[in-house]
Amino acid sequence: MSRIVVLGGGESGVGSAVLAKVKGFDVFLSDMGKIGDKYVQMLEEWEIPYEMGGHSEELILNADEIVKSPGIPCDAPMVKKCEDNGIHIISEIEFAGRYDTAKKVCITGSNGKTTTTSLIYYLFQNAGLNVGLGGNIGKSYAYQVATEQHDYYVLELSSFQLDNVYDFKADIAIITNITPDHLDRYDHKMENYVKAKFRITRNMKEDDCFIFCSDDEITIRNLDDILIKAKKLPFTQKTEVPQGAYVKDDRMIVKVGEDECDMFLQELALGGKHNIYNSMAAAIAGKVMDIDNDTIRTSLSTFQAVEHRLEKVLSIKDVLYINDSKATNVDAAWYALECQTRPVVWIVGGKDKGNDYSVLNELVKSKVKTIVCMGLHNEKIHEAFEKIVGKKNIYDTYSAAECVKKCSEVAEAGDVVLLSPCCASFDLFKSYEDRGRQFKEAVRNL
Ligand code: ADP
Repeated sequence: MSRIVVLGGGESGVGSAVLAKVKGFDVFLSDMGKIGDKYVQMLEEWEIPYEMGGHSEELILNADEIVKSPGIPCDAPMVKKCEDNGIHIISEIEFAGRYDTAKKVCITGSNGKTTTTSLIYYLFQNAGLNVGLGGNIGKSYAYQVATEQHDYYVLELSSFQLDNVYDFKADIAIITNITPDHLDRYDHKMENYVKAKFRITRNMKEDDCFIFCSDDEITIRNLDDILIKAKKLPFTQKTEVPQGAYVKDDRMIVKVGEDECDMFLQELALGGKHNIYNSMAAAIAGKVMDIDNDTIRTSLSTFQAVEHRLEKVLSIKDVLYINDSKATNVDAAWYALECQTRPVVWIVGGKDKGNDYSVLNELVKSKVKTIVCMGLHNEKIHEAFEKIVGKKNIYDTYSAAECVKKCSEVAEAGDVVLLSPCCASFDLFKSYEDRGRQFKEAVRNL
């Protein structure tokens, strides 16, 4: 019996271990840190041997194959050791893909993955398809392959999940966009990060489809260097394209083969230029799957925003509070600011990932009246924006409650208070979700 060792005991690792067990492998799971109670319980229920708080080499290096969780970097000592011992290392996606005959729509990109994935899942559900949702979102893909039966999967894939795929094949692959992010995991080389993203197109055949943003410079620059056999379907807001999706006047037009679907931009449930892109990507996927135009229009016009992504929280004294806590990089915040039509009190700050704020200058100049920093170190934000909004219009706060209170003092009727922080959350919060929830809680307490 061959032996599978899974590194990492979270959603991805435990799902992979369950699948290995169901497929009759000798399986062992090892985690350097603590495994959460929920996952310990699952491992025990499935009678899967495991360890936590360290790696026992003698139980790992005898593996025939390693399934590495995406949170573990490729240069982690145990991963290196496995490599040195010639053990093949794969990701959960590669492993589960071997046992899954469903049609797969796979979404990657720097921003917009979760939104686009959720949109497509909603659209497929509305079309009555038997569809599962997985990858970087919700339940582990491997766990679903082990325990459920779906005809379709919509999978959100981070670049870390794509790092160790080899034979996995998507039927439809989408790259939403590529902007610098997570470069610390790619030797600070953009080309490595770009290559990881394009792995989503590996093994695709002529009948498959690759959907991408032709307004995205980095995607376009790399497109010719990579052999992609799949049909290429671009989406753009800048030109008309014969196949794919584009914007004309106040409508979005989607063309796939002879089939065409159009829709007023105003009808889209999600606001902002970035969500036009996400909606176009979803609509192309829908057309490729032959979903009828009415279902596409209804789905794109009734979809509810995903939590922490330009999520409207409350309107208090005609001040609208918006939670965009997931905007952990400059590009995401750019789109959040771009779509605001009311004067903005902007909440920014947190753990800076080497941000270049200058790309926001024009938008801040035209839209932002006051900046409320929420983070331990706000010097860079002061330096970047004091000259634009004025020194007296930038405040420093150190908790969600303090921040929201300050916003409520400075905002006037008609303004919007936008949490779109450009930064990771780990200086003051556990995660971006924690930051978003504390923000919403503080707004509700006003
Ligand atoms: P991801 O899963 O890739 O992190 P999300 O859908 O969770 O993407 O959105 C993350 C952040 O990026 C949110 O602040 C959102 O408003 C913004 N965003 C969403 N779609 C796009 C896009 N196509 N381009 C740029 N920013 C986007």
